[in-house]
Amino acid sequence: MSCPSWCREPAGHLRLEPGGDGDLHAADVGVIDVQEIPGLRPDGSVAVQIEQYVTRTATHAPLILLDFEELDSGDGREGLTVDAAEALIAVLRQAIVLLRVEAS
Ligand SMILES: [Zn+2]
Repeated sequence: MSCPSWCREPAGHLRLEPGGDGDLHAADVGVIDVQEIPGLRPDGSVAVQIEQYVTRTATHAPLILLDFEELDSGDGREGLTVDAAEALIAVLRQAIVLLRVEAS
């Protein structure tokens, strides 16, 4: 089984066992640096990744993942400044372009 064009894992990385767990195609698309807001939160980052879960019998839709772990506020909501939101949109667009190219 070959990788989609966006996958950044080594060629032939998938190891699919019959009846076993599946495996992932994966790519780190980009990381947005988030500035410190004095008195509110430290600086940090938001990572954008693509993952696609594959088993012997199924290839699931690729997902764009947002990793806010470094900013974790504990209530499930994370705040971005306008600049950080704009940077995030740019990286999300890259991820979408990568996936659209693969789908066409
Ligand atoms: Zn792959």
